Amino acid sequence: MTATTKIANPRDIAHNVMTLISELNLQPTPQVYHVFYSHLTEEIPELSQLIKVLIRNTQELDEETVFRIYHKFLGTHALQQRLNLGVEGLQAAVERVEEAVHSVIRDTEGFCEQFDSASNQLNSDDITLEDARGVTRGLTTVTRDAHGRYSDFNGCLDDYHTEVHRVRSELELVRRDALTDTLTGIANRKNFDASLRDAVTATMETGAPLSLLMIDIDHFKYFNDSHGHRAGDGVLKAVARVLVNSTKGADTVARYGGEEFSAILPQTTVENAEKLANKLRENVSGQRIINKKTGKDFGKLTVSIGLTSYRLGENILEFVDRADAALYQAKQAGRNTCTMIQ
Ligand code: GH3
Ligand code: MG
Ligand code: MG
Repeated sequence: MTATTKIANPRDIAHNVMTLISELNLQPTPQVYHVFYSHLTEEIPELSQLIKVLIRNTQELDEETVFRIYHKFLGTHALQQRLNLGVEGLQAAVERVEEAVHSVIRDTEGFCEQFDSASNQLNSDDITLEDARGVTRGLTTVTRDAHGRYSDFNGCLDDYHTEVHRVRSELELVRRDALTDTLTGIANRKNFDASLRDAVTATMETGAPLSLLMIDIDHFKYFNDSHGHRAGDGVLKAVARVLVNSTKGADTVARYGGEEFSAILPQTTVENAEKLANKLRENVSGQRIINKKTGKDFGKLTVSIGLTSYRLGENILEFVDRADAALYQAKQAGRNTCTMIQ
C-alpha cells in the first residue's frame, strides 16, 4: 500500500492505519495504532523513517519491536520532551504576536498623524492641484505599507494558532499516555480510579445500576516461576486483549495492578454482570497460551472473578472492597469461578 503519502482525511488515515496493521499481522492495540498513526501522518519524521527502513528490509515488525518504537518516540518521556518543545514554540509565537501588536499600534498612530497632516494640507486655501496629487500619492503609499504590515500580523496570528493546535494535540497524547498501562495498552489504575468515580457519580444522579468485576489470574506465580517473567508478561497482554474484546460500549476494562484486572460496567445489573463475568472467565480459559515466536504451548490459564453492584450512597472504597471480598470468595471456592455479593 502507499503507506507514506500524506493524507488529510482522518477517516482515510484510520483506514490506512488499520490496513497496514493487519498487513503486518499485528494486533490493533492502542499503542500499535498510535505508532502507525504517527507513521502515516509523518508527525515524527524519525519514527516514519525507522518504520520505512524496517518494512523495506522486510525485517519482522513484531509486537515487541513496535512496543520499543512506541516507548522511544511516543512514551511519556518522549512526549514530555516534545511537549516542552511545543511550549517553547508557543512562547516564541506569543512573543512574535505581542511584537506584531505593538508594531500595529505604532503604525496606527503614525497613520493617524499622516492623515491629519494630509487633511490639513488638502483643506488649506492655497493648495495647488499638483500639491493635492502629491498628498494623495503619499496617502496611497502609506496605506499600501500598512496593508503589508497587517498581512504580516495575520501571518503571526496563523503561526500562533498552529502552535496552540500542536501543543493541544501533544497534551492530549500525554494525557492519554498517562491513563494507559504500558505493558498491556489498556486503561491503567489511574484511569480505573477516575472512571469509577465518574461512573459512581452518574449512578448517584440517575439511579441506574452499576456493577464492578475484579478479575485475578489463577496461580499466576506458578506460571511465572515455570515459564519466566517474559512469558508471564505476554500472558498479561493476552488476557487484557481477551477481556477488552469481550466487553463493549461504556464498559471500562483496566489493569488494576499486577495480574489483577477490573471491569466497570455502567447500566448493568448484578445479574447481567454475572453473565458477563462467566463469559469472560470462559473466554480466558478457552484460549491456549502459545508463544508466538517458538510455538511453545503453555497450556491454559484461568481467572477468578468477584462481582458486586453499587449500593446508592455508599463510598467508593466500600464498593471496591466488596468486589475484592467476592474475588477472595471465588479463590476460596476453588478458582476458575465467579462469585457475586449482592
Ligand atoms: P492466586 O490464584 O491465588 O491468585 O495465585 P497467584 O499465584 O496468581 O497469586 P499471587 O498473588 O501469589 O502471585 C501473583 C503473581 O503475579 C506474582 C508475580 O509473579 C506475578 N506478577 C504480578 N505482576 C506481574 C507482571 O507485571 N509481569 C509478570 N510477568 N508477572 C507479574
Ligand atoms: Mg492471581
Ligand atoms: Mg493477585
